[in-house]
Amino acid sequence: MPHKALPKQLLGFFPTPLHSLSRLSDYLDGPHILIKRDDQSGLAFGGNKTRKLEYLLGDALNRDCDTVVTGGAAQSNHCRQTAAAAACVGLDCHLVIGGSEPDVLTGNVLLDRICNAKIHWSGAERKGESIPSLVESLVAEGRRPYNIPYGGSNSIGAVAFVEAYEELRKQANEANRKIDSIVFASSSGGTQVGLSLGARIHGDTVRVQGVAIDKDEDADASFMERLVDLANNTCKELRLAERFCEDDLFLRDEFYGDGYGVVGEAEREAISLLARFEGILLDPVYTGRAFAGLLSMIRNGEFTREETVVFWHTGGTPALFPYAAELF
Ligand SMILES: *Cc1c(COP(=O)(O)O)cnc(C)c1O
Repeated sequence: MPHKALPKQLLGFFPTPLHSLSRLSDYLDGPHILIKRDDQSGLAFGGNKTRKLEYLLGDALNRDCDTVVTGGAAQSNHCRQTAAAAACVGLDCHLVIGGSEPDVLTGNVLLDRICNAKIHWSGAERKGESIPSLVESLVAEGRRPYNIPYGGSNSIGAVAFVEAYEELRKQANEANRKIDSIVFASSSGGTQVGLSLGARIHGDTVRVQGVAIDKDEDADASFMERLVDLANNTCKELRLAERFCEDDLFLRDEFYGDGYGVVGEAEREAISLLARFEGILLDPVYTGRAFAGLLSMIRNGEFTREETVVFWHTGGTPALFPYAAELF
């Protein structure tokens, strides 16, 4: 595959497991549900950003950078995995994090600190809006910073999920299973774009369905427009002639409830079902919401009992602790 040409820094344990949710599938009496365990990617509690960071840090090291900079919300899983990845390879890490410094650090931001990231609190901004000025000041200090975009979702990060699709495809082939649908949390888009492009490259008919986690409030472009742009940039990154339009991407945007990080009854039910039937932990912001979306699709009869659905567990479990008060 063409992505073999991009520099890659190994950071996690791959392939992540693919296994059945048999008890829960029986209980729901719907499709056969498999789960892809990127929560077990191995880097500081795991998650889907580990894959993207293997290519992003590969690029940073290739460019001889000495510092990585990224941003997100206080409970950003992306920031936590970036802090751990930077520590692994001996780079400094600066994080621009929304909100103000709490008295006691917990969840992801505690792990950021343990991994020795330098945290810059940015108030109402939670998508790293002030990163450009931070990068400027680092350069002025003689540092060589590498800027990782929000969620690690540029064409380099997305390539990691083209490769992840191939990993899943191989596991499914070995298990003699045809996958009809893949469902997962979609937020900065790299996961969705990579998996969709992977399916397209192989001519597979699988429906790759991202569950939107965020209310679409970006003033410049809708999430769908950003997905299409990222998909086409990723095609160019891989020197593929393929091009995407909105009809090629399946975005489920009816499940974001009261907005980013607001835990509702649907998320609580999803977290509880997975834990009670399978002993698997979901997180309150991303995978809890995405699995709630899958439950709703199953109950609405979107799948037959003969079909196989993969739920891609993208991680996020350290956020269970700071959200404790909203779970019970
Ligand atoms: C970042 C993240 C996602 C979303 O992945 P994108 O590639 O940014 O769309 C989903 N789940 C978890 C737990 C995440 O941290």
